[in-house]
Amino acid sequence: ALTAGIVGLPNVGKSTLFNAITKAGALAANYPFATIDPNVGIVDVPDERLNKLTELVQPKKTVPTGFEFTDIAGIVKGASKGEGLGNKFLSHIREVDAICQVVRAFEDDNVTHVSGQVNPIDDIEVINLELILADLESVDKRIPRVEKMARQKDKDAMKEVATLTKLKEAFENNTPARAIELNDDDKEIIKHMHLLTMKPMLYVANVSEEDLLEGNKYLDEIKAFASNEGSEVIVVCAKIEEEIATLEDDEKDMFLEDLGLDKSGLDKLINASYNLLGLATYFTAGVQEVRAWTFKKGMTAPECAGIIHTDFQKGFIRAEVVSYDDLLEHGSEAEAKEAGKVRLEGKEYIMKDGDVVHFRFNV
Ligand code: GDP
Repeated sequence: ALTAGIVGLPNVGKSTLFNAITKAGALAANYPFATIDPNVGIVDVPDERLNKLTELVQPKKTVPTGFEFTDIAGIVKGASKGEGLGNKFLSHIREVDAICQVVRAFEDDNVTHVSGQVNPIDDIEVINLELILADLESVDKRIPRVEKMARQKDKDAMKEVATLTKLKEAFENNTPARAIELNDDDKEIIKHMHLLTMKPMLYVANVSEEDLLEGNKYLDEIKAFASNEGSEVIVVCAKIEEEIATLEDDEKDMFLEDLGLDKSGLDKLINASYNLLGLATYFTAGVQEVRAWTFKKGMTAPECAGIIHTDFQKGFIRAEVVSYDDLLEHGSEAEAKEAGKVRLEGKEYIMKDGDVVHFRFNV
């Protein structure tokens, strides 16, 4: 499964946020095969459509789809030079698919700031620089080898040298790989390097409870910085998230309403991370169970069937598909069928977000 790693300097509220994630933790029963790793928290992906489908179908059971966060502790200045848990930290980041960077945007004299004062942009730059330096090292190691091949007129090597040089220049100018223009060839060429700064980044601004609604100057700075590199910012108050995480749904709604919010920060973070990774949801809806399933955009119907069970993919015949919107509009599958809204799709069909599906397969 794809996972988002949570990083940030010490004392910015990472553990508090990760506690909220594990407390909100998805039912273990839904994920019997999930790795039991204390640094991994699986959450339910909030999806209003699943509630609506449940009302419509009245199944015995409703199962949301899950999303995995990994807690990556230990970044300090100098990590790329092996300071602190530096190398270990970087190798953990290499394994995640997206990065959620928690940034301190709250003042609290009781909580020490590692560099003496709250300064979100400095904090972000410390972390981003370590990742850029690690990538620069990878590129610097590779360039001489590829140049040697290029001198023998190896066409691919010549192309690669050009791409690597472009990256090197960017890194030397403090620019992450995700923020520079790369064409599909460039991306293909550097894929095997698993560069840290190619991973999509989400900034998670941790503000105080008082600033949740109106924001503050730190938040403005973070937003300006993020938009400059095309990244998104999610606003949370980690302390509040920890409290909300243990509440039942209706209590949670009341709590949020009191705060003037329509969604918890954690739910926003889950949805944003999910989208950042190009993930989408399809549904299966029967009287036994209504369930949401995660797939990667672009996957075909048989591949999506394989997410439920490999046999579904092997023996795939066709999929009966109705879009969530059509199903809701017509009120039942039978009526949607009558209106001609239930489609029979074959092996080539590219699944869409919100598809409600029955897979037909040979066993
Ligand atoms: P980490 O080192 O990044 O994991 O930071 P922690 O989650 O341990 O938080 C460091 C300290 O900041 C703890 O004392 C938290 O209670 C406090 N803290 C975390 N989030 C908030 C917040 O939103 N507001 C305030 N005032 N304190 C917070």
